[in-house]
Amino acid sequence: MTNSVRHDWQVDEIEALFNQPFNDLMFQAQTVHRQNFDPNSVQISTLLSIKTGACPEDCKYCPQSARYTTGIEKERLMQVEIVLKRAAEAKENGASRFCMGAAWKHPHKRDMPYLIDMVKGVKAMGLETCMTLGMLAPEQAQSLSAAGLDYYNHNLDTSEEYYEQIITTRTYQDRLDTLDHVREAGMKVCSGGIVGMGEQQLDRIGLLKSLANLAHHPESVPINMLVKVAGTPLADTPDLDEIEFVRTIATARILMPKSYVRLSAGRETMSEQTQALCFMAGANSIFYGCKLLTTDNPDEDSDKRLFKKLGLHPARIREASDEAQSAQLLDEIAEQASPSLFYDATTVDTKHADTTSVAH
Ligand code: SF4
Repeated sequence: MTNSVRHDWQVDEIEALFNQPFNDLMFQAQTVHRQNFDPNSVQISTLLSIKTGACPEDCKYCPQSARYTTGIEKERLMQVEIVLKRAAEAKENGASRFCMGAAWKHPHKRDMPYLIDMVKGVKAMGLETCMTLGMLAPEQAQSLSAAGLDYYNHNLDTSEEYYEQIITTRTYQDRLDTLDHVREAGMKVCSGGIVGMGEQQLDRIGLLKSLANLAHHPESVPINMLVKVAGTPLADTPDLDEIEFVRTIATARILMPKSYVRLSAGRETMSEQTQALCFMAGANSIFYGCKLLTTDNPDEDSDKRLFKKLGLHPARIREASDEAQSAQLLDEIAEQASPSLFYDATTVDTKHADTTSVAH
């Protein structure tokens, strides 16, 4: 059993962890989880797409790529005032982190002042801020960090070996470079990947190895199950076995013991039992009350019911000014008293589907 933070994992070591008897894997993951986190606390993020569709990249899972006909309506960059209104609603309804995603190869110079105003405005509300905007140059990362951006999401998506089957318009090294720029600018990293894209188990292991062997583990590690969207090249990919997905979560927990492992896209097609296994395996972060890409996340009532059944409660950011609200929120969850507790981005603007956990 290990609780140390390592950055030198070898494939055969990860393979042995991944493929040990399921009960042993779950016990090890749950033990590591309990050594590092409140086992019944789940961090909750809300997402907003601030610029949707017409992306020049060719990520084969993504309906926002301009190369595929998926019916996504393209949007211009959302006005700062609207973003701040959505953030205020998210805070009012219980979110602790507000993630803003834009379908870009990278932000342009002309976009930066607006992005900086968004970060400053959301930060001023007491929310943690996260953005996913594609590749970042060092100076862009510095500017966003200076504005108060806490997290930057940039996924590795899959193993280095399988990567070219999924994306050809940017390299694995491009992604690693952006993660370096984010770190050097002093921001926290959100980086994970997608499974169920037709990859082999060794690729899932390779993805986890790449993440776990970064010089600093990402603070957040979203593990997505492919959401198959009609019109994308991966629309007809065979389903990944859900136990294999749970094994991926458990292995991520063991390899990156202090990171938040996020149960991300694909959750809406999972049974409560599979989601419960993911929480047992060490997943301790979710998105809720919004849409992931063009596909529904489980609705808020389902999330609330599942939290109640499992005795889970939402983690809150630790700010003195937030303590009273946090206590109230936990009471409300315990009592299931407030139907408006979970932020519903779908009632705000369904066209602004999430891109954060999957895109980029
Ligand atoms: S995942 Fe991101 S970079 Fe790739 S096509 Fe979609 S929006 Fe563009």
